Amino acid sequence: MKFRAAVAGSDGIRLTMESALTARDRVGVQDFVLLENFTSEAAFIENLRKRFKENLIYTYIGSVLVSVNPYKDLEIYSRQHMERYRGVSFYEVSPHLYAIADNSYRSLRIERKDQCILISGESGAGKTEATKKILQYYAVTCPASDQVETVKDRLLQSNPVLEAFGNAKTLRNDNSSRFGKYMDVQFDYKGAPVGGHILNYLLEKSRVVHQNHGERNFHIFYQLLEGGEDDLLRRLGLEKNPQQYHYLVKGQCARVSSINDKNDWKVVRRALSVINFNDNEIEDLLSIVASVLHLGNVQFAANEQGNAQVTTENQIKYLARLLGVEGSVLREALIHKMIIAKGEELVSPLNLEQAAYARDALAKAVYGRTFSWLVNKINKSLAYKGAECPGWRSATVLGLLDIYGFEVFQHNSFEQFCINYCNEKLQQLFIELTLKSEQEEYESEGIADEECLRPGDATDMTFLEKLEETVKNHPHFLTHKLADQKTRKSLGREEFRLLHYAGEVTYIVTGFLDKNNDLLFRNLKETMCSSENPIINNCFERTELTDKKRPETVATQFKNSLSKLMEILMSKEPSYIRCIKPNDAKQAGRFDEVLIRHQVKYLGLMENLRVRRAGFAYRRKYEIFLQRYKSLCSETWPTWEGRPHDGVSVLVKHLGYKQEEYKMGRTKIFIRFPKTLFATEDALEI
Ligand code: ATP
Ligand code: MG
Repeated sequence: MKFRAAVAGSDGIRLTMESALTARDRVGVQDFVLLENFTSEAAFIENLRKRFKENLIYTYIGSVLVSVNPYKDLEIYSRQHMERYRGVSFYEVSPHLYAIADNSYRSLRIERKDQCILISGESGAGKTEATKKILQYYAVTCPASDQVETVKDRLLQSNPVLEAFGNAKTLRNDNSSRFGKYMDVQFDYKGAPVGGHILNYLLEKSRVVHQNHGERNFHIFYQLLEGGEDDLLRRLGLEKNPQQYHYLVKGQCARVSSINDKNDWKVVRRALSVINFNDNEIEDLLSIVASVLHLGNVQFAANEQGNAQVTTENQIKYLARLLGVEGSVLREALIHKMIIAKGEELVSPLNLEQAAYARDALAKAVYGRTFSWLVNKINKSLAYKGAECPGWRSATVLGLLDIYGFEVFQHNSFEQFCINYCNEKLQQLFIELTLKSEQEEYESEGIADEECLRPGDATDMTFLEKLEETVKNHPHFLTHKLADQKTRKSLGREEFRLLHYAGEVTYIVTGFLDKNNDLLFRNLKETMCSSENPIINNCFERTELTDKKRPETVATQFKNSLSKLMEILMSKEPSYIRCIKPNDAKQAGRFDEVLIRHQVKYLGLMENLRVRRAGFAYRRKYEIFLQRYKSLCSETWPTWEGRPHDGVSVLVKHLGYKQEEYKMGRTKIFIRFPKTLFATEDALEI
């Protein structure tokens, strides 16, 4: 009965047969493979609903964990809960993130094989929260030494810093990751975390200069204004009120009820110290944050010739100080364009529109590069010191992938295109690795021919035409021109539509090329190269000015870095957490069936379950199986002296397992039907 109790009830509580069954009616099954009607989507959703109502947000499909965002704090992440999962086999406790975390960790320790945990789901489904909870689990349960304590701290503290600079409130999620993150945690041969490394993917820089209605800029700006000490703000030339800053007012929602910027500021400040920032570095970093706000307030007016002139001298003064550049040089660089033609420098004035463009491009470049610098700096503080010691043994690695989730807004631009492309790749990987025997490989609609995205004389519209030419026959691609009469009405001339695995998305091409080319005028680059702010100086290297090669487009860089990521993931043993968002209102207790059914569909959970059930519902290591059931057979009780494999053979013959009910693998027994295992469990109780 113990097993059923675990299936149906809360962990550790033994239930009688009757109450177990009623409990199962009430709270559903903890593994979807136990569903009687496992091909029915309705039964699947009903099971999710039952469990969600009881605050049981985790359910397995075999070894894949399905998680539903509760939108409220549950008492399931305490130290005692962590202890309960430590070293315990999957099926003996109720489903949890910790079980996945512990299982991966044990495989890493025992088999010394690199692991990765892939966390997927749409924006707001709970990926980042899951990642943080897994890290906490390792920080608490893994062995430690003095040096290791600092590593653990740093691993944990890198989160608030990266979130401050890389997350923002969107319509979908109050703390939405606007960059992709893959974090390796390195473990030594004793199983202690000794280092880490973060790879970051494509920060949504456009947010620095523009936010849609109801959205915010990156958290750090509001944190600094809300929490920054008076002295600091004075040095940075900032006023407390976000309304003063053009870059913070576009979304018209500086305050968010679920966010406490003042408190978060304190957390971030503390975290910066833990990850090894000294006071000077913090000042340099915050100077850059402040400089972005000042840049946003730089205004222009046209002179008689129509050329832009800076009208906000005060801003230039602050910028010069904060960025460590000559004010007059910066001013001129903001209103002129320099090109090199036939070895000669040509300088031409900018009009109002161009000057505003140049200013915004600078703000994005400064912020974006500082973000990458920050990741580098964190990596240095996480670097595994043992690697430098003579005779070191290579660390085993456990990777955590938390990337921005699939998202659809009313207007979708280049950013959504990249984010959704990335999710498409991950879904493809999931299918390849878990469902490949059953499912046809997904075909990614992905980024089309590189040529299409190249600059030159192209405009957004010619880009669209080229895209049309290249992928016109793809069934998942549609434009105004290619659409039939009926669909055409719903598709603008500047739009194209892709059928993603998670649904249809219409993209507007306006601004695509621009964002893809990510152009920063040469004289602004040069000005930044001369910066005395050490971070800026580090971010803008002179070699960039002399390099004749055309820089890679954003999409190409992104595509390449994602293929590298896929290689990294493929080389490791994967575990999966599939996150589901229960409603669009960010509310606790609301189970929106339509929304959930859609996610169950596109996450491929039904296929996942079918594959799992088509094979063997259960697999258990011989040692574990024997340990648990040896008391049922006199030959294996109290101890079996031979190989566990042989012990299990004797045991199952004694129990009367039929040949078609099980198979003996190399290290595990595979049991086809849940009922076989139930019967054995019941026998234990008698
Ligand atoms: P994005 O793709 O936008 O980054 P995400 O999948 O990372 O989204 P999270 O930021 O992890 O989403 O979760 C969104 C919010 O949902 C959190 O800020 C938190 O309020 C709530 N939440 C998520 N998971 C949990 C959980 N396990 N317990 C309580 N609240 C949760
Ligand atoms: Mg996130």
